[in-house]
Amino acid sequence: MTEDALPAGEMKYSFKAHVQAHGFAGDLIISSTTINDLVKSIKLLERAGIAPTTASPSQKIEQGTGTPVCPVHQRPMKPSRKPGSFYCSAQVGEGYCQEKARQEHGM
Ligand SMILES: [Zn+2]
Repeated sequence: MTEDALPAGEMKYSFKAHVQAHGFAGDLIISSTTINDLVKSIKLLERAGIAPTTASPSQKIEQGTGTPVCPVHQRPMKPSRKPGSFYCSAQVGEGYCQEKARQEHGM
């Protein structure tokens, strides 16, 4: 790709992230007209104490204990016989909740 292939008109870049800062969490959108400014803005977030949230929305980890929480029943899961594996002990109809989780290591 040569310089000529770059768009001549004004471009707008936007970056959306789920972040947490000072006890609050929410969506943050940074828009910029150049990639350089966008990267600079993202780097400034760290200095401002704004950190990206790392928890995946589908599998919450209970704060402090490292125990996964069932996304269906919102209760801490029980460790299963397999080390590092957890299951939900909630009863669903005739059986049990099928939600399972693995504890993340090396984070
Ligand atoms: Zn469950």
